[in-house]
Amino acid sequence: MILRTHYSGQIRPDMDGSEVVLAGHAHETRDLGGILFLVVRDREGLSQVTMVAKRTERSILETVRGLSRESVVSVRGKVKAEAKAPRGFEIIPSSVQVLARADSPLPLDPTGKVDCELDTRLDSRFMDLRRPASMAVFRIESAVLQSLRQTFYSKGFTEVCTPKVVATATEGGTALFPISYFEKEAFLNQSPQLYKQILMSTGLDRVFEIGPIFRAEEHDTRRHLNEAISVDIEMSYADHDDVMALLESAVAEAYRFVGEVCQHELSVLGLDLHVPKTPFRRVTYTEALDMAREAGRASMEWGDDIDTETEHYLGSTIGEHYFLTDWPAKVKPYYTQPYDDRPEVSKGFDLMHPTMELASGAQRVHDYGLLVERMKSQGLDPDGFEFYLKAFRYGMPPHAGWGLGLGRLVQTMLGLENIRDAVLFPRDRKRLVP
Ligand code: ATP
Ligand code: MG
Repeated sequence: MILRTHYSGQIRPDMDGSEVVLAGHAHETRDLGGILFLVVRDREGLSQVTMVAKRTERSILETVRGLSRESVVSVRGKVKAEAKAPRGFEIIPSSVQVLARADSPLPLDPTGKVDCELDTRLDSRFMDLRRPASMAVFRIESAVLQSLRQTFYSKGFTEVCTPKVVATATEGGTALFPISYFEKEAFLNQSPQLYKQILMSTGLDRVFEIGPIFRAEEHDTRRHLNEAISVDIEMSYADHDDVMALLESAVAEAYRFVGEVCQHELSVLGLDLHVPKTPFRRVTYTEALDMAREAGRASMEWGDDIDTETEHYLGSTIGEHYFLTDWPAKVKPYYTQPYDDRPEVSKGFDLMHPTMELASGAQRVHDYGLLVERMKSQGLDPDGFEFYLKAFRYGMPPHAGWGLGLGRLVQTMLGLENIRDAVLFPRDRKRLVP
């Protein structure tokens, strides 16, 4: 049984006379008495099926007249070039098969003609994704993932999967989800950091992981969720500059690739994607602080974390992707390598989009003694990290890496107001379903 031979996007007026089988949702039916239209929607667009009442089999007319919106159909018919039809062709059907009926009323309007609230859309995400503008985001996200993987593979990286159920926090913080794990205390992992570093001691040298991270913070922002997908890499015999170079080329290449393979999706979204120019500007923490202070926009002291307001000022002044480098060691995690000659300054960096942070990374501490000392200076007990520290005692190469938020990358690439628009089934303080 052939239910589909072509997607809408593959049918052109010059195929006049050929037989095709289309399948999709019944987007719209219009009954003008003497003539009937059925518009079928599939992931590539719309096709108009036209039935002149006098010349069409009665059973087909009955089927189409009884069709509820969004039912699933398969239509066999001949392509006819028709200048008046929306895409220059129409389909003259020889059979219309109903594969599944849709109830009515619909939970939301999938044609996109009627605007609706984000919450309503997320409640019925399956229906929301039928809207071309929603679906386009996730087709693009898939291309972003494909591009990132291609970049990593082309540079000799191995894809790895580390555990999401763990016994300790990455940074000893409090932002963890406890879970029940037999008779033990366990948590959902907030980052693959410790595991990807452990893997650097094995000789694998270059690893990447694309997987969920869990943060139990009670965020209520447009860029935070409690479950996010992190694109993580770790690389041996490399410093912070090496991994910044990899990060900017991976991001720029993802833009270029999306521009090449997602033309339909970008046009649905009305976007003209500009590939960010590399190398991205490097701005040290101290320079950033001076810029903000000169403009009277920062009341921070050297050593404070950069607040959101200052971040926005810097973003709007710089106006493109940039790296914030040379952070004070005390605001970056214990595993961040300090400069040899300036121990108060670290080789940690953030990749910034003008509107938000996209990634954090660093050259890591690979010396066991220094790592223990850094842990203690941040108030952590090394005993709780034995499984991690052990990997540093038997030959750990120097290494560096970063973690990039997939949702934020897609959100900023497409100019989406809310990260929830870039995540299929977002998890936040209030949302656990669907
Ligand atoms: P922020 O300061 O914006 O809360 P962070 O510095 O706590 O982020 P990192 O631990 O550096 O985040 O994680 C690396 C990247 O993972 C971030 O730059 C971001 O892109 C993404 N990320 C982290 N936490 C979240 C979250 N709660 N929701 C969405 N993405 C996140
Ligand atoms: Mg960060």
